[in-house]
Amino acid sequence: MLKDFVSNATLLIASFSIMGVVFKDKPLHFFSPLPTKLYWGLTFGVLGNILMSFSIQVSPTIIADLRHLAIVIAAAFGGYIPALIAAFLIAIGRIILSGFSQASLLPSIGALLIGILCGGISKISIHRTMKAFIMNLIGLFIISIIFIMRIDDFQILKNVLTLHYLISLLGGLIAYHFFVFVVDSNEAQSQLKQSLIKIKETEERFRLIAEYSSDMITMHNEKTEYIYISPAVEEIIHFKYPELLGKRMEYFIHSDDIEHTNEMFAKALRDGVAECTYRYLSKTGEYVWIESTLKSVHFEEDGSKRVIIVSRNITERKLTDQKLQEANELLNRLSYMDGLTGISNRRYFDETLEKEWSESLLSHSPISLIMFDIDYFKKYNDTYGHLTGDFCLQSIAQAIKELIPDSSGYTFCRYGGEEFALILPAAKTVEGINTAHKIQKTVKSLKIPHISSEISEYVTLSIGLATMVPSSSAKPQDLIKEADTELYLSKTKGRNTISIKQ
Ligand code: GH3
Ligand code: MG
Ligand code: MG
Repeated sequence: MLKDFVSNATLLIASFSIMGVVFKDKPLHFFSPLPTKLYWGLTFGVLGNILMSFSIQVSPTIIADLRHLAIVIAAAFGGYIPALIAAFLIAIGRIILSGFSQASLLPSIGALLIGILCGGISKISIHRTMKAFIMNLIGLFIISIIFIMRIDDFQILKNVLTLHYLISLLGGLIAYHFFVFVVDSNEAQSQLKQSLIKIKETEERFRLIAEYSSDMITMHNEKTEYIYISPAVEEIIHFKYPELLGKRMEYFIHSDDIEHTNEMFAKALRDGVAECTYRYLSKTGEYVWIESTLKSVHFEEDGSKRVIIVSRNITERKLTDQKLQEANELLNRLSYMDGLTGISNRRYFDETLEKEWSESLLSHSPISLIMFDIDYFKKYNDTYGHLTGDFCLQSIAQAIKELIPDSSGYTFCRYGGEEFALILPAAKTVEGINTAHKIQKTVKSLKIPHISSEISEYVTLSIGLATMVPSSSAKPQDLIKEADTELYLSKTKGRNTISIKQ
């Protein structure tokens, strides 16, 4: 009898393995969907019937087996529904097995009672193991009552009940834990499957982002070697994937930018992120301007670091910036330039004199200013026309500009109308006199006819020169005033002359 009970218990446990495989995608728990609970209820019912088929024949009408454990496990894991379905199928099976009689009706009612009671216990909020244990005891209690009612021989009753209790409790414990193992491993397997699907989806999403991004996405090891290159690389720098793989990034970077990019690469490895702009030698042999964001990623498995670089071509933007800068510089130059003569204008004169004055104030050096004016220019215009007057102004400005070497540090400006000014920083009076004479001589040598001039047949200048050592009590306007006074003096002295403030 013991052997039969043990084989019954073994059959029960072995069945769980098969059930676990068949229903691996339908784990049984209280929150399983209704169809899952139905499947499991039916299966436990079938299992109960199989256990019945391999039962121990106690007497011609009495059989003993572990069918109640099928109901107990169904209730402990799935609650009411699978427990009742299993109990119902077992009850029907018992009647079919022995025909409708009192002998079969009693265990059938017993099975239904076990189903109802276990279903009820499944609702109590205690640990599942405890629930299963109580259910098992209740099942055994009901079976005991049936056996007491049906077995008259006390010795047989004692033997059957002892073995039944022993195997049910022990087998029930093993069966329960084995079912826990089956359920848990199925759960883990299904979670693993879900995780794998999610990883695949995520991987696919990132692959699509990388491949369809118009930005170039590359991955580098710590030696800057390419280990991943997105397809946009082909469009931006015209290299194909295998042509860059394994190559160092710095081979392609402009020599002027290499130091900066290496620094930024090291910064990304050190601080996590960095940004840089540099020129990259594309396959066509042309440099393209690239703007990159570098981010380092730490790989736990081997402790290595990789740098992911997202780059874009900013050549167009760079060219536009360059043009804008040039335009700004030009605008700046024009704002300081006299439109007619091409030399510096009054605005530039004012700012430069202010600046030179401050410097001379600090260095206690003298500063000279020459101001000169074309004689009888109104008459010149009246005689030769305004356009010729313009040309005369241009010729004089050009000639004097050429006279002054760039190295001199002098600033030559059109002060206004037909009046010009020359700032001579760090120049004493003697230097100013020399320059004033050179200016006069230069204009004389141009021999610009001026038939209406009252003093010469050619265009002449009146010149005023003043020199000052700037002091905190004086202002640049004082120097202008003095030079202008000298110029006025030259006019009153008869023009075509140089007056110097001594
Ligand atoms: P003075 O010998 O006393 O300097 O007499 P002036 O006629 O030269 O001086 P005045 O101030 O009476 O006249 C200056 C003239 O310069 C009048 C003006 O038409 C002319 N002028 C000023 N700016 C320009 C210019 O840009 N182009 C031309 N063509 N003439 C100009
Ligand atoms: Mg004049
Ligand atoms: Mg004038």
